[in-house]
Amino acid sequence: MEQPAASEHNTESPTIILGVRTDADFRLRVESLSGEKVMQCYQCGECTAGCPMAFAMDLMPNQVLRMVQLGVSKPVLESSTIWLCAGCETCAARCPRLVSLSKIMDALRQIALSEGKARERNVARFHKIFIDAVARDGRVHEVGMLARYKMAARDLFSDMGLGLRMFLKGKLKLMPDKIKGVDEVRRLIRDTTETPPHPSPKRGGSAAPPPSRRGLGGG
Ligand code: SF4
Ligand code: SF4
Repeated sequence: MEQPAASEHNTESPTIILGVRTDADFRLRVESLSGEKVMQCYQCGECTAGCPMAFAMDLMPNQVLRMVQLGVSKPVLESSTIWLCAGCETCAARCPRLVSLSKIMDALRQIALSEGKARERNVARFHKIFIDAVARDGRVHEVGMLARYKMAARDLFSDMGLGLRMFLKGKLKLMPDKIKGVDEVRRLIRDTTETPPHPSPKRGGSAAPPPSRRGLGGG
């Protein structure tokens, strides 16, 4: 039987929590993009206790969830945490409320990028270059992707020794390969990365996930 949500947040008007202005639509936007029911979280902390990246995060995973519940968007969107999440799903496996934080972190990264708030700029650059490479060839060509990343990050010489050793061991191919069915890969990327319009705030309810997310098992 479905348990009741931990609490419901009044989305009618912005309020100030600990000196931070809340964004009434923020939770609905995250729910719409992730397909997850944020209010299911009751702050047990199991996700944070098992997170392998928590040692490096500036906000703990359960704190991210709580801020999303409350509509406290700025510290979350400007945090390093959303870029350091490895998407390992350990938190989802441990969560007694079946909340997938990795899907929520994905949604938060999309919002941070669309609002120009991505703090870990090199991680954001790497994400974009990786997805562009997959969209072009259907797979990643490591040498091409790393060359583009190094140019974008203006960091040409770090890791040179490692790159050379990998090349000499035959781990890096000079020429890219394309897979069959690149169009299908492009369609998947397009369907899962386009940001849907903001949901109209529905008082006290959860926004439905977009069709593309539902189709990919997004909750
Ligand atoms: S494990 Fe689940 S219910 Fe517990 S704090 Fe994390 S997201 Fe919330
Ligand atoms: S998916 Fe992200 S938040 Fe969850 S345990 Fe892995 S690194 Fe931590």
